[in-house]
Order: sequence, then C-alpha cells, then structure tokens
Amino acid sequence: MKSKHSTALPRKGRATADVLADLHTYGADDPDYKHGRLWSLVYYLDEDYADFQAQAYQAFSSANGLNPTAFKSLKQFETEIIAGVSEMLHGTPEVCGVVTSGGTESCLLAVKTYRDMARARGVKQPEMVLPVTAHVAWFKASEYFDVKVHLLPLDENLRADVRKLPGLINRNTVMILGSAPEYPHGTIDPIEAFGAIAVKRGVPLHVDACVGGFILPFMEMNGRTLPLWDYRVPGVTSISADIHKYGFASKGASTITYRNLDYLKHQMFVQQDWPGGVFASPALLGTRPGGAYAAAWAAMQHFGQSGYRDLAKRTMKAFDTMKKGIEAIPDLYVMGSPSGPLLAYGSCNPDVNIYAVGDQMDAKGWKVNRLQNPDGLHAMITAGHLEVVNDYLRDLREAVATVKAHPELAQSGSAATYGLMSHLPLRGMVRQKVLDMFAQMYRAGGQDMDLHASATPATGWVGRAQALAEKAAHWYVERAQRRATLR
Ligand SMILES: *Cc1c(COP(=O)(O)O)cnc(C)c1O
Repeated sequence: MKSKHSTALPRKGRATADVLADLHTYGADDPDYKHGRLWSLVYYLDEDYADFQAQAYQAFSSANGLNPTAFKSLKQFETEIIAGVSEMLHGTPEVCGVVTSGGTESCLLAVKTYRDMARARGVKQPEMVLPVTAHVAWFKASEYFDVKVHLLPLDENLRADVRKLPGLINRNTVMILGSAPEYPHGTIDPIEAFGAIAVKRGVPLHVDACVGGFILPFMEMNGRTLPLWDYRVPGVTSISADIHKYGFASKGASTITYRNLDYLKHQMFVQQDWPGGVFASPALLGTRPGGAYAAAWAAMQHFGQSGYRDLAKRTMKAFDTMKKGIEAIPDLYVMGSPSGPLLAYGSCNPDVNIYAVGDQMDAKGWKVNRLQNPDGLHAMITAGHLEVVNDYLRDLREAVATVKAHPELAQSGSAATYGLMSHLPLRGMVRQKVLDMFAQMYRAGGQDMDLHASATPATGWVGRAQALAEKAAHWYVERAQRRATLR
C-alpha cells in the first residue's frame, strides 16, 4: 500500500497523531487474525493481553542486550527465561542458554555451534542429518554456514525413518536434527530412537521445538500421552523453543538451550582486537531488542504453568474437533500422525483437488497455507480457533462439495499456480521463478508479490521456452495429481 504522502521521507516531519492514524490505515488490508481467520503466523489472544504485551515491550524498547553487563535488567530477564524454559524441558541444573530474536536465529546458532565444535576436533567438511520435514531455517543454516545436508527420508506414514539414520552419519557429521513437532504435519520425530543412535555414534542431537516448546509440556501435564522428546531423552544436547509462538510473547523472542556449557561455549563470539573495543557476543545479533526480552519475560510470568496449561487445553480441544471433522469428510485425509497443535490434510479423491479446496476456503475468508510433497492444506491451531473451528469445518465441507461438482477449478486460480509449483519436475525453474518474484518485490520501490496473479508474459525465446515448460508442467501436474490422490 502506498502512502498518500508523496515523499517517503517527508520533507517536514509530521505530527505523531497524524502518523499513528496513517499507521492504522496501512494495516487495513492485513489478515484478520483477531477473529481466527488466519491459520498461521500469528498467536493472538485479545486486546487486553495485547496491551499488556505492548506495555512490557514499550518499557524496555530502548534497552539493548548487546552487552549483557550493561543492562542488568535484560540479563536478569534472560537468566529467568532460560531457567523457566530449562525446567519446562526437564533439564538438569547444568542446562544453559540464551534468548534469541526468533526460531530462525536459534536454529542458525545450533548449526554454527556444532560446526565450530566439530572444527575444534579437526572436521573440515561439516555435514548434518536433517529429516525431510525439518523447518526451512535448517536449510538456510546449511547455506549460510556451509554445512552439507544429508536428508533423512520419511516412512510411509510421513514419519522420519529412523532405520535410515545410522547410514547417514559419518566422521564429518556435526549434528543430527529432530523436531517436536515438525512444522509440515505436526508429527513428533522419534526422538528417543534418534537419541540412542546419537549417543552410540557420539554425535550431538538438537531438538527443534520452536513451535512445540511452549505447548507440548503443558499438553503432557494435562494428561496427553506424548513420546519423550526433551532433556529426559539421553543424547539430546540442545533444544530450541520459541516464546513468540505458543508462549504468546510479542514477536522477537525464542530460546536456545544446551545440556551444558561445553556446547554453549562454541556459540560465543569474541574479537579482542577491534578498534571499537574488545567485543563479545553470545548470539547472532549485535543490538538485541530489550523490549522483546521484557515482553517475553512478562508473558511467562503472566501465564505461568496454570495459564499455559489452560491455553493448551483450549488449543487441543480445537485441534481434536478439527482432526475429527476432517477425518469425517470421506474425500480428505489427515497427514501423518499429528500430536498437535498443527495438522495438515490432503485429498484422497482424484476428483477433489486440494489446492482448489484451498481456493474455496480463501474465498470464504479463511487464510490457509499450502503444502507440497504431498499436496495439502495446513492449520496451525491456537486457543482462539476454538471459537471458529466449527465454522471452518462447515465451510470445508462446502468447499469440498463445490470442487467435487466443478473439477475444472483445479485448472484455474491459485490451484493451477500451486499445482504447477509443487509438481514441476524442473525444480531449478521453480526456484528461479520465485527468486525473480522476490527480486521484483525488493527492487527499488518494489510492489506486492501476488502468487495468484498470472505473471507478465516474457517475450522472445524466454517467453516461448516458458510457455512450453508451463504446458509440459500442466500435463505433468494432472498426471501427478491423479497418481497422488489414488494412493
Ligand atoms: C517457526 C519455526 C521455526 C522458525 O522460527 P521463526 O521464529 O519463524 O524464525 C523453526 N522451526 C520450527 C519447527 C518452526 O515451527
């Protein structure tokens, strides 16, 4: 959205009230997360709680955690947050860690730490084992830190196939990853089996509980039976857990903890010769946002065990309703074995294209994410969704019926685009296309990216090649979708 003011940096500054009013108009087209319409990205409770977080954030918004000896308050928040997380994850008193700006920073740090630990013992070409369902942050870490990935495939139930793990470990393996749960399907990886292998082979095991860290422990306290995945499992050497997801903190707060200081040491950065002074940093960022630490600490203090248990109870009530409701639709199936709070579903009827179902849901005002390999729709369920889950299921039943009656919907709208992107055998082309779109969006004065809009046709041989490729892709998509849905 463009400002009505012609200069991006106004010649003359504007009154604060005017600026604030403008701020709200910018947000007018954002997803309606306050009424449960969005099934990803946001963890929202209500206005009162949002105000409480804003106040906590505001009180420390200028404070800087860069130098942990300067703002003693921030170091104290951090110490107490890490102690709380360690307790939640059944850590021993040796468990230590840092507060980071988000899950991605926590994941990046784990890879850096284990790479440097392996370097210290002479490993020159670091490698790591990631299940196919590992969060993208881990692939980003692989690129950033030059650690080669060995992919652990999934079994027929979409669970990381632990039988194949030993064969992927070698002398260069710096770490193994498991997730609790993995983001795409909400399945908890077999962490105990991973742990046994990690111990036997002497390789660190990180558990990515970015999304699960602040809910699984409370689901268990509420009486759910879950496989073990935290510090109770021998072999688990570190865990990431985001406070800005199910911890309901303002954005910008996650944690990474390690079983003991021998691991965490390798995360630290020190530069003793810098003209700006001797410099040391425990995490990735330089300036670390004090507001986010204060808000995260405030969230944990406000909820405590009782509050998080209550949120987990409501969330899982919504999750159970959702799962049962989807399973009751004969054309759909729930993917893998989700323990909650996330789940994914696909179509088991060749005449029901799941992306077309997604388009129908969008048209009814829901925002649902698309998955691939296999094709599906995704739902990250929060306590707030308890109010709307039955409306969602009613609309889902209608959406399926509409698509069944109009199978041609699979060939139009975003269903066609997503079908193309997920089934195109030339993955390099998909990558290039998305890169191009992002470049467009970030070029000077860049505009919105619209996946649903058809791209401006390229001219010349590029255009012809693209048209040909897309034609081939359409044929391929249809064939692949038929195959996928016949399973
Ligand atoms: C959200 C998530 C991340 C990344 O966290 P951000 O806060 O989005 O950077 C990593 N792993 C898993 C499993 C996640 O769900």
